[in-house]
Amino acid sequence: MVEVAVIGAGIAGLTCAQKLQQGGKSVVLIDKSRGLGGRLATRRLAGTHADHGVCYLQAKGDKFGHWIDELVSTGILRVWTTGIHRLAADGSLQSPPKFANYYAAPLGANSIAKYLGRDLEIIGDKLITSVDPIAHGWQLSSKDPEFSLTATEVVIATPPAQALNIARESIDPTCIQQLSSVQFSRSITAIAVYPTSDQTAAAAIPWQGIQCIDHPTLAWIGLDSSKQLNPTQPVLVIQSSAAFAEQYFDAPDLAVVGQKLIDEIALLIPTLTTPELVQVHRWGYAFAQAPLSDRFLTAQTAAPLYFCGDWCGGNRVESAYLSGLAIADRILSNS
Ligand SMILES: Cc1cc2nc3c(=O)[nH]c(=O)nc-3n(C[C@H](O)[C@H](O)[C@H](O)COP(=O)(O)OP(=O)(O)OC[C@H]3O[C@@H](n4cnc5c(N)ncnc54)[C@H](O)[C@@H]3O)c2cc1C
Repeated sequence: MVEVAVIGAGIAGLTCAQKLQQGGKSVVLIDKSRGLGGRLATRRLAGTHADHGVCYLQAKGDKFGHWIDELVSTGILRVWTTGIHRLAADGSLQSPPKFANYYAAPLGANSIAKYLGRDLEIIGDKLITSVDPIAHGWQLSSKDPEFSLTATEVVIATPPAQALNIARESIDPTCIQQLSSVQFSRSITAIAVYPTSDQTAAAAIPWQGIQCIDHPTLAWIGLDSSKQLNPTQPVLVIQSSAAFAEQYFDAPDLAVVGQKLIDEIALLIPTLTTPELVQVHRWGYAFAQAPLSDRFLTAQTAAPLYFCGDWCGGNRVESAYLSGLAIADRILSNS
C-alpha cells in the first residue's frame, strides 16, 4: 500500500506530490491524461507550440514569488512582458493600466509540469472512477479492470465536480455540499498559426497580451509566439468569454466556432494574413466562480481524504500551488 495517492497532475497535485515525496512519503500521482499539467497546457503544432490553457504566471504573494524565482533560475520561466493591454467592450485598445512581471515558459507552460513531475512516480491515462474505504486506507478504481492501487491517504486535486464524480459515495454531506458550492465557468480557446512570412509583421505588434474587459465574445488575446526565444512564425491564442463558451460549447463544428473568435480579432491585427492552421480546445472547467476561502477540504472519513485545487482560495495557478502545498504540509505535520 502506497502512503499517499494524489489524483490529478495539475499544478496543485504536482506541487502536493513533490512536497510529500521531499518530506519522505511514498507517493503515486495519477492522471486521466497521458501528459502532465492539467490546465497548464501546451499544444505542440507543426514546428511550433502554444499555451492553450494558462497564459502567464504572476505572483501576488511571496511564497509563489519565490517558486517563480526558482523556475526562472532553472531557465524554465522568464519575464514575458511587463504590461497587459486591455480591450474594452467598445473595441478600443488601451495601454496597460499597471506594470508588473508576467512570466511565461519559452518551451511551453507544460514544461513547468514536466519539471515538477521529474522525480515522481506517475500513472497517466487512468481516469479514476472511485475511492472506496478499506481497512486503514483507500482503494482506487478506474475503468481499467487491470488497475489496482491502495493508499493510506488520498488527495484529490481536481476541479470539485470531477472530485465528486470520484468520491461522492465515500464522503459526508457537508463535504459534498462544499464541493457542490463551487461552480466553474467554461472557455473555448482558438490557436491560430500564421505563415512564417508574417513573422516580421508579428514582431512589430506593440503588445504581447490583451485582457478583454466585459467583452461579449473575447476574454484574452495572446501573441503566444512572443513567449519563445526565437520565434519564426506568429501564433495567436484567443480565449472566449464565458458567455460565448456557454453558447457554443456543444456546437457540432468546432472549426466554425474557432473562426468566429478569429474573425473578432481581424481588425486588431490587420498586418497578419490568414492562419495556415487553426485548432480549437474546449475547457469544461476553466475558472472557479466564488472559490472557497479554505486552502483545502478534509472529508470526515476514517482514513484521511483531502481535496485541493485552484478553487480553494482563488482561481489561478497561484491558488492551485498554495492549495497543493498546504495539504502536503498538513499530511507531513500529522505524521
Ligand atoms: C483558458 C485558461 C486560461 C487560464 N489562464 C491563466 C493565467 O493566465 N494565469 C493563471 O494563473 N491561471 C490561468 N488559468 C487558470 C489555471 O489554469 C488554473 O487555476 C490552474 O492551472 C489549476 O490547477 P489545478 O491543479 O487546480 O487543476 P487542473 O490543472 O485542472 O488539474 C486537474 C487534473 O486532474 C485531472 N483529473 C480530473 N479528473 C480526474 C480523474 N477522475 N482521474 C484522474 N485524473 C483526473 C485532470 O486531467 C487534470 O490534469 C487559466 C485557465 C484556463 C482554462
